[in-house]
Amino acid sequence: MKIDLHTHSNVSDGTQTPTELVEAAVAAGLDVLGLTDHDTFDGIAEAERAADRLGIHLVAGVEMSCRYRGQSVHLLAYGVDQHHGGLRDELQRIRAGRTGRLPAVLAKLAELGVPVTREQVLAQVGDSPSVGRPHIADALVAAGHVTDRTEAFDRFLADGGPAHVERYAAGVAQTIDLVHGAGGVAVLAHPWGRGRREVLTADVIAGLAHEHGLDGIEVDHQDHDQHTRELLRVLAGDNGLVITGSSDHHGLGKVDHDLGCNTTDQGQFSALMSRIGSGGPAA
Ligand code: AMP
Ligand code: ZN
Ligand code: FE
Ligand code: FE
Repeated sequence: MKIDLHTHSNVSDGTQTPTELVEAAVAAGLDVLGLTDHDTFDGIAEAERAADRLGIHLVAGVEMSCRYRGQSVHLLAYGVDQHHGGLRDELQRIRAGRTGRLPAVLAKLAELGVPVTREQVLAQVGDSPSVGRPHIADALVAAGHVTDRTEAFDRFLADGGPAHVERYAAGVAQTIDLVHGAGGVAVLAHPWGRGRREVLTADVIAGLAHEHGLDGIEVDHQDHDQHTRELLRVLAGDNGLVITGSSDHHGLGKVDHDLGCNTTDQGQFSALMSRIGSGGPAA
């Protein structure tokens, strides 16, 4: 069983349509594919149709943007009621905040001598209901200011970078509670990637597990080196957390994130799915 629980389509910042993503997952030999676009379920219905047709198991998910003490945190939610009012409202707030900061980012880029217009960014958005930094990065590439997304982030758009603008995000604990309220399970995405480790410490993650019933952590991810993965595996074991592994595939939008490059153990996957609908921590 090959299980990849974290991927993106062009409904957020990936480059494949949900159908193309499912086709690629089948070609990569996956048995289970999690579609987890940023802050939207818009790709799920199409992906489910393709998955039914091609005989692969699709896990409906979403990667929610939230925050802990000023640090950006991503939370993967699986098995939620996609019509839950509170969850829908929160996703809408996140998307509005992301799109809403676009003029401020464009003003900074112009000041920095690498101007792109709103129209140039919108041409990169695909079917995404919000406009994110990766789309702005793609516009910078198309305008010839940088060679790829990575350079756009490194020079301008990364957290704390010269063209970075803060946006709305709720706290991670509150977001875990919301996911449970919507009947789903919550897994911290790449918890120790990109400078998160200093803020999202082992003690903080243990607290989220014991006080908010955090269900799992993504251990096998390209943002984690081998040593980090071993530490996170121990942390998961100590706190009853499910361990996941995934590609965080973005089509052509991220190099070295091929489908199935990291996978989730079948037993861990079953443990995670069995927690859906349990409303949080085991009694
Ligand atoms: P946004 O949600 O608009 O703030 O954009 C965040 C997205 O940009 C993340 O989900 C990542 O896919 C991507 N991203 C964030 N930081 C970096 C970085 N340093 N290098 C490349 N991509 C990044
Ligand atoms: Zn992304
Ligand atoms: Fe992420
Ligand atoms: Fe992701």
